[in-house]
Amino acid sequence: MTGGAGFIGSHLCERLLDEGAEVLCVDNFYSSTRRNIHHLLSNPRFELMRHDITFPLYVEVDEIYNLACPASPVFYQRDPVQTTKTSVIGSINMLGLAKRVGAKILLSSTSEVYGDPTVHPQDESYWGNVNPIGVRSCYDEGKRCAETLFFDYRRQHDMPIKVVRIFNTYGPRMQPDDGRVVSNFIVQALQGRDLTVYGDGTQTRSFCYVDDLVEGLIRMMATEHEVTGPINLGNPNEMSMLELATRVTDLVGGGRKVRHEPLPADDPKQRQPDITRAVETLGWEPKVHLDVGLARTVEWFRDSGVLG
Ligand code: UDP
Repeated sequence: MTGGAGFIGSHLCERLLDEGAEVLCVDNFYSSTRRNIHHLLSNPRFELMRHDITFPLYVEVDEIYNLACPASPVFYQRDPVQTTKTSVIGSINMLGLAKRVGAKILLSSTSEVYGDPTVHPQDESYWGNVNPIGVRSCYDEGKRCAETLFFDYRRQHDMPIKVVRIFNTYGPRMQPDDGRVVSNFIVQALQGRDLTVYGDGTQTRSFCYVDDLVEGLIRMMATEHEVTGPINLGNPNEMSMLELATRVTDLVGGGRKVRHEPLPADDPKQRQPDITRAVETLGWEPKVHLDVGLARTVEWFRDSGVLG
């Protein structure tokens, strides 16, 4: 698994180990942390390798989950050239590895391939509305090119590829400083600060709890050769950022206020996955209600020591 020490990656490592797999976790720790996988190091079926996938990798594996890439706007814009390289050169390296060893390979793509969507909700047939030269392009276009590479390897070499488009996901082990809205709001509420709502807060997102997402990834990897995706994975429960702020303050208590800050460039106005394809192909749909998932996430931020 590339990006195995990241937020989603670490949960996926854990789940695969629980199922009896041997897991090779590859990570360069650019936007992840050893703390996420520290508890797995004593497991004899878990192996950690510090490696940057923009360089070739020679190992023997049966399945590759290619999750590596900074995924929050703050992290992926910090070194945008490296972000594109990770998606593009990293995918070329991992596809080359998959080809050599005959492994199945899954790409964690993103709802960002739809850009600021003009179709709502977004289904997989929509080609997107992406700015090719903006501040989010390193991530959006990097992932779009990664998808192209996966499908070209399929057409040229008939490889077993799987592409999933992950929508906003949240849960324990989000980085407190990665700038994403769920972690920002929870950290701010717990620290007694105002919640920073960008723009007027009417923009929408749909939030999926990490355990649901992991289940979708595992089901996708288990599909037959004919199933390539792309398949959306996310929770269609759409809400505005103002509504999310209210949910978080209700949960944490203390009557926090909202402070409006400027809307970042190219911030999508709305986002909601159409998950019909995931339901029909994988028999998958999210099960964890937002209030339950948020409560678990708040508890983790409060009790894990991550806030010092
Ligand atoms: N956002 C916000 N306050 C914050 C962080 C983010 O209002 O402190 C907004 C952001 O402008 C966007 C939404 O929340 O409209 C989701 O942002 P996030 O960075 O979590 O993910 P993405 O934009 O990639 O969906």
